[in-house]
Amino acid sequence: MANRTKHFFIPEKVFIEKAALDYPLGEILFRKFTQKNIPVKLMNSIRVQTLPGKTSAQKYRQAKKILAVSVRKTLTFATCKPSAHYQLPLSTSCPGGCEYCYLQTTLGKQPYLKAYVNLEEILEKTQKYIDDNAPRVTVFEASATSDPVALESWTGSLFKTIEYFGKQKYGRLRMVTKFTGIDPLLKAVHHNNTRIRFSLNTETIIKKYEKRTPSLEQRIKAAKKVMEADYPMGFIVAPIFLYPHWEEDYLNMFKSLQKHIGKQNKNLSFEFITHRFTKRAKNIIKERFPETTLDMYEKNRTFKWGQFGYGKYLYLPDDRKVLESFFYENIKKFFPEAEVEYFI
Ligand code: SF4
Repeated sequence: MANRTKHFFIPEKVFIEKAALDYPLGEILFRKFTQKNIPVKLMNSIRVQTLPGKTSAQKYRQAKKILAVSVRKTLTFATCKPSAHYQLPLSTSCPGGCEYCYLQTTLGKQPYLKAYVNLEEILEKTQKYIDDNAPRVTVFEASATSDPVALESWTGSLFKTIEYFGKQKYGRLRMVTKFTGIDPLLKAVHHNNTRIRFSLNTETIIKKYEKRTPSLEQRIKAAKKVMEADYPMGFIVAPIFLYPHWEEDYLNMFKSLQKHIGKQNKNLSFEFITHRFTKRAKNIIKERFPETTLDMYEKNRTFKWGQFGYGKYLYLPDDRKVLESFFYENIKKFFPEAEVEYFI
């Protein structure tokens, strides 16, 4: 079951907001889950106040098996630096259990998955953002609050969104995933307007900290399919950790990637994000993963105030410089035609 969850998410429990049944997708999901004998509860409004389990760790683990199906009410999109102009909210959370996941902080006590059924309204709002900014191109990020691929086989929302962007002159879509269920997206008419990125890390980090997600090799194989479907493609290497043998491990990651996707790749992007944490995130992670070995020692870090009024602990400037040169040098060597969008 754990292995299946990595590729195809099957919720243990589904909560459906009654208003969601007024939308075709709400009805389809109700039917699909009922036919599969997955317990479905209809609710006036989705409030999962009490999650099953006694400890924070148990509650978190249980929450990741619950799917809420609802109508997205907030149709003002948040900004999304540095990867795009706006977030595009198709879903929330994901079934993975990455110990460092920043959504633990942003989703707080409601880390369960959510699928939004009012896709047409979300895309109408998207259109308004695009039109207001035209003739400049507006870029949207579909993965700011979730891993949207994890729910795709149930909702099909990403496919429709990609085809919607395929028709846009001034709108572009970006998304990032660790999940491999991308086959339904391979036939979408994307007209190069969607960039699909895969989140990568070393085998060591994936095994230790990215629980219930596909392996490095599985992600790379899925990425190859995306490349063969002619999508603009990219990789986010994040979070980058300094640990014994990190150089060897990240080198192996690049070697494996080059072996599968080749050296000469036009329209290939890389983003690099070094590990960082906030005090709040550290406390939440320690509650949810009491045995964690994640490196969150303030004394090895430098503190920096962020744009949202709270501070983060980053690697020391000298350490960041070492990492930065390592990644730039290796991109030149392994993927000379690729673009590095940013290193932070
Ligand atoms: Fe968070 Fe992404 Fe891991 Fe899901 S796959 S837990 S969204 S980091």
